[in-house]
Amino acid sequence: MTTIKKARQLDELDGLQKYAAEFYKKEGQIYLDGNSLGLLSKRAERSVHTLLNSWKDYGIDGWTNGEHPWFYLSEKLAAMCAPLIGAKSEEVILTGSTTTNLHQLLATFFKPTASRYKILADELNFPSDLYAIASQIALHNLPESSMKLVKSEDGQTITTEAIIEAMSEDVAVAVLPAVLYRSGQVLDLQAITEAAHEHGILVGFDLCHSIGSVPHHLHEIGADFAFWCNYKHLNGGPGSVAGLYVHEKHFGTGPGLAGWFGSAKEKQFDLDVTITAAPHAGAYQIGTPHILSLAPIEGALSLFEEAGIEAIREKSLALTQFMMDCIEQELSNTFTFGNPLDETRGGHLFLVHDEAARICKALKEYGVVPDFRAPNGIRLAPVALYNSFEEVWHSVQILKDIVTNKTYEKYENKRDIIA
Ligand SMILES: *Cc1c(COP(=O)(O)O)cnc(C)c1O
Repeated sequence: MTTIKKARQLDELDGLQKYAAEFYKKEGQIYLDGNSLGLLSKRAERSVHTLLNSWKDYGIDGWTNGEHPWFYLSEKLAAMCAPLIGAKSEEVILTGSTTTNLHQLLATFFKPTASRYKILADELNFPSDLYAIASQIALHNLPESSMKLVKSEDGQTITTEAIIEAMSEDVAVAVLPAVLYRSGQVLDLQAITEAAHEHGILVGFDLCHSIGSVPHHLHEIGADFAFWCNYKHLNGGPGSVAGLYVHEKHFGTGPGLAGWFGSAKEKQFDLDVTITAAPHAGAYQIGTPHILSLAPIEGALSLFEEAGIEAIREKSLALTQFMMDCIEQELSNTFTFGNPLDETRGGHLFLVHDEAARICKALKEYGVVPDFRAPNGIRLAPVALYNSFEEVWHSVQILKDIVTNKTYEKYENKRDIIA
């Protein structure tokens, strides 16, 4: 039985509850969209001010002076990020955007030959990844069929078996999400990596929906590369600089797309006509880092350093379980869960309903921020660092009210320009 009393008890026992006060939460609103854009924390706001002031105070000398010298900022933040994905500090760099990092990694690691020339992906992946893969294939003058897509049997999830079965001898590189952006399914990265390597395939993962929510052990499992954004579960702010990981066994490879910020730091200002690449993941940087878009990440990551990703995952699983229990109890047979019900679910739930678009509009009007995924999905992400069990309980009550009173019928069942 889920009750508000139960929710309050769970909040009292929650060791992470104290972090909610560190975020800007709007009075009267329950924010459940942290898997699309995480909220601003006071620490992130402070680190933005710190970096802005270093520009004000030092001018050009900010590159080497101040609390966070800009010349080393990408590496410094990478070291803070590394534990979240089980990587060594030097295997990570914060740079670019998710999509440009995928381009960089494919330019570096996709070296098609006459017999191995395909890139394996899945049909449920975020389209930007597929667009990037298709264009890399085109740059090599290969046919479109060189992108091989693993099929989903149920339209929501992908089985490890289907992925492994698709690992034919003509596949050079596999690019797969760690957590599927719609259903929130967590893939078995270890099994996929082992199978890929047995088949002579390099494997890279998109961590956009997992980093900051689901822990990884990328170094240990031997994953070749990975890339992600920092604005979803990591709360790095809109358009914040992204990240990439390259296993140390590949240090010295590439970069496929070179630029002077990929230089070894002590050589960069020699300004030689040929590059001496950094001996670590820093080699995959291209140009001058976007300092003001790195700025909030420092404050944002300090919260993760303190709270710890294992504790975050534990609370996240408890929150999504409690939300599913509330929905089952209050709204049984109204929605189908598109997310896995077991612990292969990530940080959000995916509710399927024909009226999903307008139910989302009604939820927003009643103070719950969800997100809609066409044609019929509602994603709800109760976030460990700033959402409570009580908020989960209230949001399901509001959802129940909207559905039973059909308040959603006054809205058009159509997505807005951004959904
Ligand atoms: C959010 C997201 C992206 C976004 O890519 P950008 O380059 O940051 O716009 C890419 N892939 C996945 C799986 C995502 O969830």
